[in-house]
Amino acid sequence: MRERIPRYNSYNRWLKAKFGERVYKVSVDGGFTCPNRDGTVAWGGCTYCNNDSFRPDEVAPEKSLRQQIKDGTEYLTRRFEAYKFIVYWQAYSNTYKPVDELEPLYRSALEADSRIVGMAIGTRPDCIDREKLQMILDVAGDRYICMEYGLESVFEETLKRINRGHDLFCYLEAVEETKSLGIDVCSHIILGFPGESREQLLSYADTLNDLGVDFVKIHHLHIVKGTRMAKEYLKEPFPLFTAEEWTQLVCDFLERLDPRIRVQRLFGWSPEEHLVGPKWGLTKPQLLTMIHEELERRDSRQGLRFLLEADQGGLQTP
Ligand code: SF4
Repeated sequence: MRERIPRYNSYNRWLKAKFGERVYKVSVDGGFTCPNRDGTVAWGGCTYCNNDSFRPDEVAPEKSLRQQIKDGTEYLTRRFEAYKFIVYWQAYSNTYKPVDELEPLYRSALEADSRIVGMAIGTRPDCIDREKLQMILDVAGDRYICMEYGLESVFEETLKRINRGHDLFCYLEAVEETKSLGIDVCSHIILGFPGESREQLLSYADTLNDLGVDFVKIHHLHIVKGTRMAKEYLKEPFPLFTAEEWTQLVCDFLERLDPRIRVQRLFGWSPEEHLVGPKWGLTKPQLLTMIHEELERRDSRQGLRFLLEADQGGLQTP
């Protein structure tokens, strides 16, 4: 099979270079909730959120952390011959507890298996502060840490419409604080909220470039059952991407993205039984192939437009 030229800055390639081999994320659920659900910030959560739609089977809050990690690592070892792992705190807001309750949780996860090389902690930008970040660094020691913050939209109007409960400024502050301690940041974004034009969607890349984040997870808007957005959509359907449209958009997006930002995800994913739409009937490898083939067809790569505009004096070169 012909070897592909890398067309974007892939997270997996970076992991391999950093740790000398492929590293796999083991998801855990620490029984957290979210201030956007329990009334502290708002009730009901973000309108698109249903945490059950992305939780792997091995992960269940009723299992102990050690058991979740044991089940997750065993599965990944069986399936991929995995040997190094990053604990991924995925469900809800994983810093939403007092610092003295967080510390033993993180410590016990890191100590659960000698093959764990670090942690990725998913949370909201309004659930982090310097004290928590410093504690995380202290607990981690020489292990790797990445903070994953949900940005979702860069537009205040959309943030309000989807009930995010924080604004862009809050996000900027969280990223700045985290980067000031030398911790890597991954931004999660969702493209396709109603009311945002194609040009607005592409401008998310400019915001990420300006933020100087280390990683991005790009999701297409997909609607899952049991959410407020599903009700809104079923009552009054709005346009969702087809797989072909998404391929075009994400390739345009990559061209505009700073090539230093490593890409962790190129589309959202939800099991069929949770999904309202769009239903593409494709596997993840099929979708990845479509995106790769489009970049090849264009003979393009991540950052092509970014660098071009920088050359013309509009942006800073790396
Ligand atoms: S998406 Fe995250 S912040 Fe929003 S309700 Fe769900 S867990 Fe909370």
